[in-house]
Amino acid sequence: MKIFCIGRNYALHAKELGNAIPESPVVFMKPVTALLKNNLPFFYPEFSEAIEYEAELVLKISKNGKHVQSKFAKDYYDEITVGIDFTARDLQSKLKEKGLPWELAKAFDQSAVLGEFVSFDQLKNKDEISFSLLKNGSIAQEGTSKDVLFTFDELICFISQYFTLQAGDLIYTGTPAGVAKVAIGEKYEGLLEGRKVFECEIK
Ligand code: ZN
Repeated sequence: MKIFCIGRNYALHAKELGNAIPESPVVFMKPVTALLKNNLPFFYPEFSEAIEYEAELVLKISKNGKHVQSKFAKDYYDEITVGIDFTARDLQSKLKEKGLPWELAKAFDQSAVLGEFVSFDQLKNKDEISFSLLKNGSIAQEGTSKDVLFTFDELICFISQYFTLQAGDLIYTGTPAGVAKVAIGEKYEGLLEGRKVFECEIK
């Protein structure tokens, strides 16, 4: 099972981090050991002083595919949830400065919070899926799938040119603007179309 993540898929977020708008999807990966499920707490790691949340819509791949054509892309995912792509922003900045890979800042244990999946059939509006992240009960971040630079279908086509998609793979589809540091003691909740799909306490 593979976990793909998309960087800079919302223009305002690319801008808030001082990055250019990408011409093609920015793809990186996390290992399975990064997953944090079942509402378990996140333990603040010792190697960073700037862990930031990035709330994202997460797609689950429903069947195997390679070189998927756009007209068939929709057949490759049928469930969605909200997750957090935890990022050690201090480490990431250092790595980016030196032009080094991002794994240490992005792929560490517990860096991929994953909510409960919801079938696309149950969504109110498949073309504009809203999601949000609450911090201690107040909105910290919100977005909709309409604001992405690369649509779900485009991501499926792009990724499958390089990697064979396998049923069960996940795609974290990028974060909207509003990322910020987390602190011990805070409680986060992920909402998909207003419905709670996860909670996560920072310990
Ligand atoms: Zn992200």
